[in-house]
Amino acid sequence: MIAPRPSPGAGRVALVGAGPGDPDLITMRGAELLASADVVVHDRLVDPELLARARRAELIDVGKQPGGAKAMQEAIHAILIERARRGAFVVRLKGGDPFVFGRGSEELDACRAAGIPCEVVPGVSSAFAAAAAAGIPVTERGIARSVAIVTARQGEGLDDTPPDYAALARMDTVVVLMGRERVAEFARGLIAAGRAPTTPAAMIERGTWRAQREVNESLGAIAEAAERARIASPAVLLIGPTAARAGRQAMRSLEGVRVLMTRPPSASRGLVRTLRERGADVIDAPLIRIRYPDPLPALPPLKGFQWLVVTSLHGVRGLARALDAQGLDARALAGPRVAAIGAKTASELERVLGVRADLVPAEHRATALTAAIGAQLDPGDRVFFPCGTLAREETAATLRGHGAEVVEWTVYETLPAPPDESSRERIRQGIDAALLYSPSGVRSLVEHRVDLGDALLICVGPTTADAVRAAGVSRLTQGPIVAERYGDEGVLEALERAVRERRRSGGQDIPVEATDHA
Ligand code: SAH
Repeated sequence: MIAPRPSPGAGRVALVGAGPGDPDLITMRGAELLASADVVVHDRLVDPELLARARRAELIDVGKQPGGAKAMQEAIHAILIERARRGAFVVRLKGGDPFVFGRGSEELDACRAAGIPCEVVPGVSSAFAAAAAAGIPVTERGIARSVAIVTARQGEGLDDTPPDYAALARMDTVVVLMGRERVAEFARGLIAAGRAPTTPAAMIERGTWRAQREVNESLGAIAEAAERARIASPAVLLIGPTAARAGRQAMRSLEGVRVLMTRPPSASRGLVRTLRERGADVIDAPLIRIRYPDPLPALPPLKGFQWLVVTSLHGVRGLARALDAQGLDARALAGPRVAAIGAKTASELERVLGVRADLVPAEHRATALTAAIGAQLDPGDRVFFPCGTLAREETAATLRGHGAEVVEWTVYETLPAPPDESSRERIRQGIDAALLYSPSGVRSLVEHRVDLGDALLICVGPTTADAVRAAGVSRLTQGPIVAERYGDEGVLEALERAVRERRRSGGQDIPVEATDHA
């Protein structure tokens, strides 16, 4: 490793291994350098979460430079050198390890030749990580004591010759990178050189990514299996006895379960991440779309109100937009006490408006909210209620029942939205569960004739479940399953329980082993 001491103010370059894909698999040093970079020069397939660590950097994607590989490589050198000469700290972020088929050495040489200090930070190479993520050790005592890492790609000057199949055939484990297009040719070459066609093999696509997929077959049949499963690049081909272990790792609770998430991504990010970590294949198909009217309704003076009641994230955002549009700030909200329906809404209030809620009911439910406010209302109290076009009338009605005067201020519209074509296609291929969040979402499903087959219908609460019943089980096939606890934890719990039960009762659709779920 080279760690030159740059003179203060001078530019420098670090070649940083980004790891195989999962943003948590970068080294600590790599993450540290990213955070302090002025410029990040990265390849195409870098996880946005990693790039987000480069808080103050200019991001340059060099994955799609015009021209051939050589022109592209020279363009990259030019960018590194030019930015560093201007005094920038440049991080060149490269997939896996910079020195494993990464042209890292060429970039290092180019920087050095230009007199620019250049440091190399190793990364977790996909050559090992993809195998590990599929449960395959590249060596194993008594079974495999040698590994070769080889590229299947030919061309580009020096590498015009085919791989040395005779030498490779004598290795215990062979890991092939950049080999997606040449699996059949490679397998034939190895077999011709004496490797048994029955040798176990595996192909791992997007190892460590959320969308990781594997196929597992004998060497003689792996090419066809990869074709059938439509394995795509980036993928690693692994040949050797340890490949027989593919998929034998402990199964995650939602392995291979296809889940339809019907909430907009802005509201579902945390849960989607957890679902994917537990092995689910999540299809994002928001069924409702939020639109803020243009122009927004004017915000009346809130001085004369005793309560401001916020029942959704959109209510908070609508308030913020309206303030903005009128050139006001949070001071315009002074006066009433503030009630929020749940922790998420309360923290959004604080984040976006700097307003701390005075009341958050223990249970995230409209009835719990109105009961809690009701207990503190005096007759004639005025309540200001930012809401959407599909607001539940009960909230306002219940508060009126407590003697309050309620002003409903419609600041967003909830519009049904059909799933886009690619989500529809994936739904057609079959899903195991749908997560449903509102009666309007359920209506949107029915209205857009989305066929959920016999998917488990997990409802966030009883109101949504009522909507499923009202839509008719015959149209949605299954009866609703209602989460017992409110919020993301409740939905997750209900989903996992339902999946366990379906697996136990021999549900055909949900894989019971974490093997090839392609
Ligand atoms: N320097 C990189 C390799 C670059 S070559 C490293 O150390 O990982 C690009 C090849 O790496 C791809 O064609 C594919 O074979 C492999 N690859 C990269 N990321 C991968 C991943 N997440 N899963 C499977 N293969 C991957």
